[in-house]
Amino acid sequence: TGLLDGKVAVISGAASPRGIGLATARLFAEHGARVAILDLDGAAAVQAAGSIGPGHIGVACNVADRDACQKAAEAVVAALGKVDVLINNAGITQPVKTLEIDQASWDRILDVNLRGVLYLSQALIPYMKQQGAGSIACMSSVSAQRGGGILGGPHYSAAKAGVLGLAKAMAREFGPDNIRVNCVTPGLIQTDITTGKLSDQQKAEIAGGVPLNRLGEAREIAGAYLFLASELSSYITGAVIDVNGGMLI
Ligand code: NAD
Repeated sequence: TGLLDGKVAVISGAASPRGIGLATARLFAEHGARVAILDLDGAAAVQAAGSIGPGHIGVACNVADRDACQKAAEAVVAALGKVDVLINNAGITQPVKTLEIDQASWDRILDVNLRGVLYLSQALIPYMKQQGAGSIACMSSVSAQRGGGILGGPHYSAAKAGVLGLAKAMAREFGPDNIRVNCVTPGLIQTDITTGKLSDQQKAEIAGGVPLNRLGEAREIAGAYLFLASELSSYITGAVIDVNGGMLI
């Protein structure tokens, strides 16, 4: 039997074919969950949901838009009846340096990576409170812990560090409602965010600094999300799980 049998999971930023979100949707579906894929492009979200099998849905949602999050939450509950799991996975990056950050790029990076976690959580927590249970996992990054990396700018590090604080605050606030909130902090994972933008030499250099001597795969982050979503982690809240091949040792 699956670890998520009978559960409904909402995953943001899960339409990208090689992304962490879709790998997570696939793994959750294998474990018995019905999945709602939320992403900017509704047609891409529907297609991604169809690609993992029947019974899953795709919904257009810009997580940085509060109304869009509310509407998406209503659409999910109308279609799937409830929400047990929320994976706040959507994110964007921009490889710039501090002196290059202007107001628009600061706003864009903070809006998607941090504000989006707040808005989608606000939209779905009421349903979790009502049923007296829920699990939320939020995407942070090793960039938050190390103060940046190759691909994320300082605004990205700030946003992802903000996610850690927000998640812990929500974990504290909603613990009494039996809603758990945790984070994952991946190292460098091979997805569209990374693969297209790094040369083989850059990848080899990065791998050389990682004890496991390689970049991560999307499904390896999906595994951590599955653990946090499932009852295997029933006494874990406010935690941060590093999935980075040992990069911080
Ligand atoms: P990806 O680009 O494949 O996936 C990101 C997804 O988020 C895309 O489907 C995109 O359409 C969606 N998205 C972007 N803005 C959105 C918005 N406003 N509303 C809804 N959806 C939106 O990249 P990925 O590597 O799978 O990234 C997933 C998450 O993992 C991101 O939060 C990223 O910051 C984080 N992360 C990635 C790495 C890595 O090395 N790849 C490392 C640490 C953290």
